[in-house]
Amino acid sequence: MCIASLYFILLDMYPFFFFSFSYSGAKLALDSLEVPVGCVIVEDGKVIASGRNRTNETRNATRHAEMEAIDTLLEQWREKRLSTSEVAEIFSKCNLYVTCEPCIMCAAALSIVGIEEVFYGCANDKFGGCGSILSLHSSSSEALMSGGVPQGKGFKCTGGIMASEAVSLFRNFYEQGNPNAPKPHRPLTHQAIQ
Ligand SMILES: [Zn+2]
Repeated sequence: MCIASLYFILLDMYPFFFFSFSYSGAKLALDSLEVPVGCVIVEDGKVIASGRNRTNETRNATRHAEMEAIDTLLEQWREKRLSTSEVAEIFSKCNLYVTCEPCIMCAAALSIVGIEEVFYGCANDKFGGCGSILSLHSSSSEALMSGGVPQGKGFKCTGGIMASEAVSLFRNFYEQGNPNAPKPHRPLTHQAIQ
């Protein structure tokens, strides 16, 4: 095998390497009776932050994996007293690997912070912000955020990586029953995504 072939094989495997960390987070969420979503943020081939869904633990519906990872970095960089432009510069070189398509809230946040690229597992048919419901990763969606609200830059987005593994985690979660789901909706045995 020539060096060039090996290079392209390794390049193809690159996202799967980081997805293994994201799926570990999602499994940890599942073990904690949370909707099983996990993610990592990668800069220059290095994981610099991870997050998992903690909405039940925190009783805060906004504590999605992506928001946890973003907030971890913002806190670190605030302590280092990085400027807004320095933060934007780092985010512009970061990629996110998440087990499920970011919801509308998270996709908007990722667009506003200016992340470079997002790779996700399964689609989020109910709340997806990267093509399923809205396309906030597309720069053409900037018109949705007018009126003084920071405008998102959009980001490159690729889905469907290890999607069956992500769906399997959701299936396990809903089969065991979501402890925080409204009573009429329990047990949810066929619902794939939060
Ligand atoms: Zn979200």
